Amino acid sequence: MVIVMQAGASPQQIQRVMERIKSLGYEPHPMYGVERTVIGAIGDERGKSILESLISLQGVESVIPILKPFKLASREIRPEATIVQIAGIQVGKGGFALIAGPCSVESETQIIKAAAQVKEAGANMLRGGAFKPRTSPYSFQGLEHEGLKLLAKARQETGLAVVTEVLSPEDVGLVAEYADVLQVGARNMQNFPLLKKLGKVNRPILLKRGMMCTVKETLMCAEYILSSGNPSVILCERGIRTFEDATRNTLDLAAVSLLKEWSHLPVIVDPTHGTGVKSLILPMSKAAIAAGADGLMVEVHPKPEEALSDGFQALLPEEFKEIVKSIGPYLKLEGKEVHRPTAASG
Ligand code: PEP
Ligand code: MN
Repeated sequence: MVIVMQAGASPQQIQRVMERIKSLGYEPHPMYGVERTVIGAIGDERGKSILESLISLQGVESVIPILKPFKLASREIRPEATIVQIAGIQVGKGGFALIAGPCSVESETQIIKAAAQVKEAGANMLRGGAFKPRTSPYSFQGLEHEGLKLLAKARQETGLAVVTEVLSPEDVGLVAEYADVLQVGARNMQNFPLLKKLGKVNRPILLKRGMMCTVKETLMCAEYILSSGNPSVILCERGIRTFEDATRNTLDLAAVSLLKEWSHLPVIVDPTHGTGVKSLILPMSKAAIAAGADGLMVEVHPKPEEALSDGFQALLPEEFKEIVKSIGPYLKLEGKEVHRPTAASG
């Protein structure tokens, strides 16, 4: 159930509604908008009609049942788009995330160089995996803690915010010490203990869509993080598994527009894993912007031929720079802007 407060409702009136929700056995989740506050009452679906009585409290405009299975992630509860703040960068509502870097952190020289190159090309965030989810246990698994330290060094040298993946609940604390944004990879999207743990950290989460998961399931996973207490979630479309084998995955850009329709959360697109084909990264980036994306995540490597993972799909820094130039007019057309980071956290 959503309790919509009147524009100009007082803090005391909002407090009173929250207390009443609690006393009825539900959990209040207030969302403070520019115009008005809406409060989600989360709990047992069966007895929720009792919440309808809240309409008689002062300052309440309406009490609306939520129709979608996801609640806190839903536009029904929060019509206004969410802006996720990362070191002075806004993602959502016109703020565009341009995240670039190698698949994995491989060495100090590699990540520092990559960071400087993607910054020069126009990126505002650096990506790079320290913990890598690999299909084969014999493939490079990442530099782990050492990789996180190198990412922090790259941030210090360039000022770029750092996005890196966390694979297991036990590593959440460690990764949060170093990263500005914690990424949940496609293979882990439905790792519910991980999602619950990420609900407790004071860092934004980049949630990549599972390759076998629907749009609804993706939003239910975001719901895990939101309902555990972390309001800063960015969704990422990175392609799904279909019968098509000419591309690595099938980039579902309709899902981007649908996610934006159903949810207030920012949505970004990863055309690199989404296609696995370098020549498709530019057209899919343009299409992603037209579909309403709030950002892009692209793999870029100073020497793709020497990469320890995903070298075949990594762009050269100069190729990435060309792409950044080419998408400029598309961003302008959609009223999107790439903000520069001020002080990356770590
Ligand atoms: C990645 O971004 O490094 C990655 C492993 O992507 P995905 O989880 O989408 O496969
Ligand atoms: Mn990769």
